[in-house]
Amino acid sequence: MKNFLGILRYLIPYKGISIGYVITVLFSIIFSVVSLTMLIPFLSLLFGTQELTTTVDPFSFSVKSITDHFSYYLSQIIIEKGKNQALVIICIFIISLILLKNLFFWTSQVVMATIRNHVIRDLRLEIFSKVIRLPLSFYNEERKGDIIARMTTDVQEVENSIVNSLVVFFKEPFTIIAFVGTMFFISPKLTFFIMLLLPLTGFVINKIARSLKRKSDQGQKKLGFLLSIIEETMTGLRIIKGFGAQDYVEEKFKGHNQDLTKIMIKLHKRRSLSSPVSEVLGVMVLVVVLFVGGKMVLGEDSTLSASMFIGYIAIFSQVINPAKSLSNAIYNIIKGMSSYDRILQILNEPITIKDSPNAQDVEPLKDKIQFKNVSFSYKEKEVLSNINLEIPKGETIALVGQSGAGKSTMADLLPRFYDISNGEITMDGIPIKEIKLKSLLSQMGIVTQDPILFNDTIFNNIAFGVPHATQEQVENASRIANAHDFIVKTEDSYQTIIGDGGGRLSGGQRQRISIARAILKNPPILILDEATSALDTESERLVQEALNKLMENRTTLVIAHRLSTIQHAHKIVVMHDGEIKETGTHDELISQDGIYNKLCKMQSFT
Ligand code: ADP
Repeated sequence: MKNFLGILRYLIPYKGISIGYVITVLFSIIFSVVSLTMLIPFLSLLFGTQELTTTVDPFSFSVKSITDHFSYYLSQIIIEKGKNQALVIICIFIISLILLKNLFFWTSQVVMATIRNHVIRDLRLEIFSKVIRLPLSFYNEERKGDIIARMTTDVQEVENSIVNSLVVFFKEPFTIIAFVGTMFFISPKLTFFIMLLLPLTGFVINKIARSLKRKSDQGQKKLGFLLSIIEETMTGLRIIKGFGAQDYVEEKFKGHNQDLTKIMIKLHKRRSLSSPVSEVLGVMVLVVVLFVGGKMVLGEDSTLSASMFIGYIAIFSQVINPAKSLSNAIYNIIKGMSSYDRILQILNEPITIKDSPNAQDVEPLKDKIQFKNVSFSYKEKEVLSNINLEIPKGETIALVGQSGAGKSTMADLLPRFYDISNGEITMDGIPIKEIKLKSLLSQMGIVTQDPILFNDTIFNNIAFGVPHATQEQVENASRIANAHDFIVKTEDSYQTIIGDGGGRLSGGQRQRISIARAILKNPPILILDEATSALDTESERLVQEALNKLMENRTTLVIAHRLSTIQHAHKIVVMHDGEIKETGTHDELISQDGIYNKLCKMQSFT
């Protein structure tokens, strides 16, 4: 319930237009009620029971006064021009009212579509901005496909189930009140009977709705899982083909696909119940009305005339649909809440890595970066323990060690992809937690083993993160990165679209584009995480050349698998099991005859 009220807050920015909606709806209801009430004088005229009134009280805004005046004018017409003319006038009146009703109805629909689409747009944007700000640690626990499902199918479900139903809540209660009010006016006794049946209907509706929500929960979860498999398959298509694992992946997909089908069929079985159940309930109430009302018309005391009763039934028939929509809306809202709950899990997730209240902007690095007694764990297991390291400005520090030693983790701590559990990392003596994230990240350029490129033009991939970069700047950066020559040979030069993840380029080309990107950003601090590891020797030479130019005059933290690439580093740090075991220059470490020397020997180079 609390979460449901939370959805209403999305309407706040659209207060004005929402009021416009309510007004247009009210007008459409008023015209609808009045047009139907016209049936009573029409029938009275046909049955010849219309009493002729020749006097009328002064006009006031009450139902009685309105009907009195209407009877008066109708009587005048009957007296002056005859019954046929009166019939024509009633018909024209009904047509005009229906036209007006529908004009307002259409306007209200247009207004509501505007509100609904804006609300959904806001919700989608809110999730997206949350997703790009959540810390990386969040994504270690979640499946990507499931998050995509929350952003797409769950939002869709919220739109279909909740937002569409909210519309009903804005409209149908007014419709019901207006019609039931008119019914009360015609026959309080009969209307009272109908009211008695309401709690029973409510109980049945609630039971069905709850079971719908349970199934819907399962369905959305399964759909998220399925999307994860699809996403993973798309990414790993090369490996799946390479290992001939199509059958294995297909079997896995088949199983979950089948489960989803079962859940959805059950869901639809229950959802489809809602309409017949509402109809049966509606007809039961109608039969009670026919029975009780019929008895009243036939009865001696004759509290209800036949024409009034027929008018009453006509009006009552108009209540059935809104009541049905209202009960369907309740089903839908409860069902849709399971999707909204899933969205809320993302929206309520705390952004743990953010600017502290007293965070400051900093100048480009002047002196050094320091790791002081730094410890870190992803979960329980400590991955880095008690790291102490100084990275003086302008120097290149290389991290080496076997896979899993904690090198990438250390590099990830610098741009605050993760926050440390113990110790402190400082830049020129200022703890990085007290530096504004924007200011901190503006100092860093990152080149990773798998260059992250987007399905966009080469130009936009290089200019990424540097707004308003000129063609000349981008070309210069590409020249330094040894990328210009191959870029101009592509189909549309810098405007060539490079496919998903840069799929239309070779590994070395992708890497040189990501280096050009770092060169264009021109950051004082560089983080190179195995930037050449995935390349063949020729590409590696071109990339290494580009990297050497990039590293000139910058402070660099480089993680290297191939030790030949870092032997000229100012300092080499050897890591093992999350600890620093050796530090020194290449020559110092070789002469120490420790882990580094052994690693070098394994790569048969000294
Ligand atoms: P290296 O870069 O030296 O190969 P990493 O820093 O990638 O080492 O990993 C160090 C340790 O942390 C490894 O034991 C690895 O399993 C673990 N690890 C790395 N990333 C994560 C993560 N996102 N969640 C949990 N554990 C991780």
